[in-house]
Amino acid sequence: MKNESPPPGLRWKALARMPGAVALFAVVCALVLPPVRAAGPAHMESPASKNPVQALIEHGLLDMRVDPEASKRDADSALEMLRRAPDPDLEIRARMLLCDYQSERDTAAAQQEIAKATALLAQAKRPGLRAGILDCEGEILESGGANTKAMAQYQEAVSVASREHDDEMLAESLFSRGYLLGVLGDYATGLTELRRADGLFEKLKKPLHALTTLNSIATLYNRMGDYVQARHIYTRALGAQRAAGLQREEAVTLHNLGRVNENLQDWDASRAAFAASLEMARRIKYVRGEAYAMRGLAAVSNALGDPAGALETLKSAEVLQQQTPDARLRAQIQLARGISLHKLQRLSESAAALENALEVFRQADALGELNATYSELAAVNAATGDWRAAYTRQTEAKATSDKLLRNQLDQGFATLKVEFDTATQEKENAALMRQNEANQKALVQARSVRRLQGTVILLAVLLVVLLAMLAAFQHRSTLRMHMLAMTDELTGVPNRRAVLNRLDPMLRRSDTAPCAILIIDIDHFKAINDQYGHPAGDEVLKVVAMTVRSAVSERAFFGRLGGEEFLIVLPATGLDEARRVAEIFRQKVESIDTTRWCADRHHITASIGVAVSVPGKDTPSTMLQRADLALYVAKRSGRNCVKTEPASHSHMDVAVLDA
Ligand code: GH3
Ligand code: MG
Ligand code: MG
Repeated sequence: MKNESPPPGLRWKALARMPGAVALFAVVCALVLPPVRAAGPAHMESPASKNPVQALIEHGLLDMRVDPEASKRDADSALEMLRRAPDPDLEIRARMLLCDYQSERDTAAAQQEIAKATALLAQAKRPGLRAGILDCEGEILESGGANTKAMAQYQEAVSVASREHDDEMLAESLFSRGYLLGVLGDYATGLTELRRADGLFEKLKKPLHALTTLNSIATLYNRMGDYVQARHIYTRALGAQRAAGLQREEAVTLHNLGRVNENLQDWDASRAAFAASLEMARRIKYVRGEAYAMRGLAAVSNALGDPAGALETLKSAEVLQQQTPDARLRAQIQLARGISLHKLQRLSESAAALENALEVFRQADALGELNATYSELAAVNAATGDWRAAYTRQTEAKATSDKLLRNQLDQGFATLKVEFDTATQEKENAALMRQNEANQKALVQARSVRRLQGTVILLAVLLVVLLAMLAAFQHRSTLRMHMLAMTDELTGVPNRRAVLNRLDPMLRRSDTAPCAILIIDIDHFKAINDQYGHPAGDEVLKVVAMTVRSAVSERAFFGRLGGEEFLIVLPATGLDEARRVAEIFRQKVESIDTTRWCADRHHITASIGVAVSVPGKDTPSTMLQRADLALYVAKRSGRNCVKTEPASHSHMDVAVLDA
């Protein structure tokens, strides 16, 4: 039901009714977050409303700040539901929402809502709601330029809310009255009212209201000439609105920012702000906002020497303005038109436009605008040679500017302003400190997270290394075990199992050439043990193993069969070759000098039995048997000799030939 008042400072009073959670969010965003964090309005909802109608109304209040059309839909739906389950208090609130919507578009429709809400008052449980209705009435009047009447309504609203001890309504009424006082040039009282409203909002724990109030104070500052401070406040507010996704509010604040830059004659910044406001207003089809932004763009064009362009823009603004019952907006457009026409030397048209504006500003008692219009009109009158009218307008301009100046120099206001600015600065500083603290904490946290991550990564790497080492160790020990299992402990050469494992696959293949095996058996070894002791026997076994191994060719394979017997496997070797090789080994053994272990014995001898495989038929066992037989023959033949099986043989029935 709240309306914006004309620039400088379109108003945002409905913000003051935003649900606490949204408000808190927006303020926190404004103060804590960097300003360009765009988030959808996302209906970060209001205090959990049990009643769905109440929820709709609260949603509507939020939507009014985001997208007024959505707000109207919310209010209509709420009324539809109330038809089935009436609730006077909620209906009044829904109608206030519609009043707010219509006050910018259709005065008659807004008044109808007021009439319906007023009719419900008698049944309402909350008598303070009357203040809200009066407030909306005041806004309709203010929009129409009837500021004196509007002030009376606000006055009454303040009285009702105070009497009913309805702090929420009181804060809002004070807010409206404070704002209008600013328009009327009564800055000191205006600031006092706004500060009271601010205090109440804080007491009601509605933090965004502090921001809203602050924006109205910024508008007041803009009016009384502290443009820089006003710009500072608007800029901060803009950040909060963007963060909360309050698009309509953003359009309004962008306009206000354009206006303050206009006053600072910072034309580029001014044009940018008005253009952004226009774009946002168009996006949400907010006609009144579009018209205001266009007036601003036209003012910039005028200032930059393009009155014709300004006139074009103002033509579109006028069309849009006709859709909103905002007399001061109309007057603002006329003032800008008057300036354009003056620059274009269309003096009589200019004077007419300015007279039009003057009428509205007079009625509204809007000092700043009056002063600007009087001055412009005086200049136009002078240009037409109407010196008398020019003098009168000049006198009026001086009177208003004197009044403005007096208000601006008001000692009381100055004191209040210093107090207020100090308090605001302290709040901002506190918020910054909180933000810094939060950043610091986040930084520390991020650092410790990074450290932790580093440690975890390091541990993981260590674990992987350890596991790899363990795996390698295990692999090595498996190999070692395997080797041990395949190695003869005493001599270090492959054991029986290893050597037979090599022989077996060779025998299984029928497509390969026959292989030969040699069993080497040390002669009278028992006697060595008996005579020189078992350890000496061991040493002899070792030296024989080493001697034979070193003489075995790369293709061949050698191992200890057990006791004092060794086996050599010669792949692809026929009987003759095998016999020849065996003879070499026999001589090798014989050539070993054993005096080191066997004091009075210079050498040992060995007997060798040779067998050659029948590919595809033999097994290690059958071959060993035949070689053993040949060995037996060698022993029987006096030892220290090589005996082979016959070249053609049948299994297990072997004749043995002398080597
Ligand atoms: P032959 O000429 O008929 O082969 O007579 P031999 O004494 O060599 O054969 P015999 O089978 O009678 O004796 C083998 C001896 O080898 C018996 C055993 O004590 C000895 N012997 C077997 N293994 C080892 C060992 O690891 N170390 C030692 N020192 N002696 C062993
Ligand atoms: Mg033996
Ligand atoms: Mg022997």
